[in-house]
Amino acid sequence: MIERRDILKVMVGSAAAALAAPAIAQTPAKPRTKIVFLGTKGGPRVGLGRSNPANLVMVNDTPFVIDCGMGVSHQLVSAGVPLESVKYIFISHHHSDHNLEYGNLVYNGWAAGLSTPVHSFGPKGLEAMTKTFWELNKFDVETRIEDEGRPDPRQLLIAKDITEDGVVLQTPDVKVTAFRTPHPPITDNFAYKFETPDGVIVFSSDTNYNPKLAEFAKGADVLVHEALYVPWVDRLVTRVKNGATLKKHLLESHTSAEDVGRIADAANVKLLVLSHLVPGDLDVTEENWTDEAKKHFSGRIIVANDLMELKLPV
Ligand SMILES: [Zn+2]
Ligand SMILES: [Zn+2]
Repeated sequence: MIERRDILKVMVGSAAAALAAPAIAQTPAKPRTKIVFLGTKGGPRVGLGRSNPANLVMVNDTPFVIDCGMGVSHQLVSAGVPLESVKYIFISHHHSDHNLEYGNLVYNGWAAGLSTPVHSFGPKGLEAMTKTFWELNKFDVETRIEDEGRPDPRQLLIAKDITEDGVVLQTPDVKVTAFRTPHPPITDNFAYKFETPDGVIVFSSDTNYNPKLAEFAKGADVLVHEALYVPWVDRLVTRVKNGATLKKHLLESHTSAEDVGRIADAANVKLLVLSHLVPGDLDVTEENWTDEAKKHFSGRIIVANDLMELKLPV
């Protein structure tokens, strides 16, 4: 015979279970895929505001770094990513705002305890740059190997030059495809597409207005595209005292925010993110940026800020 107090116990037990079940269901699952915008201004000038170009894609806790502008190591640490956990690095092109901290990022990972390989990919010149970086730092590296018993970092960084469009990396979770896009006078310049379990992300690299990029990004969930705010180009170039043809470069080799809207519309992406902002350190408001892109794109638009996280699916 069940006594009254046992019934109470059962009731309490099931009531507790009923309460517990939704609590478990409401606990958000850890996102498998996210983008962290590490550095969102375009160009090599270092300032107090936005950091220089760099992005991070995390898939199942594996970090993929896209571009290594000055400050990338510090921004990764700020984002809570241990530097020694970086496994893959992609360089879009060899302008210094995209590669200046490439070698130093791996070096900093090594200083933090790196013991597993890092694979890097980028246009022709990356393999040579990697070799030169280790020559530049030969004294320190060899001293620390000998004195501190560290592994040889030169064996841990495996660089690969990309010479043509196509798949550059395939892991169980992620497929990365490179696509050449013009950034005059640079032609060895690649946009990257990341196909992840939670959606497709395309990074434009620096590029002039290129409708072919819309085909490459067709149907992507997220398009992260560089953007130039044309009305402020004159203000920007008057500040730079040693760049006589800077204005010409900016207009011919970058994409206006308005044209970025055209690309996003033609590609029919779910979400457009404006990053690599030029100017990135003058008072162009979010509204200024999005108003330009909205002229042609009616989907969602985000203006990236440093350390902003975007979880997928979007
Ligand atoms: Zn750039
Ligand atoms: Zn560039």
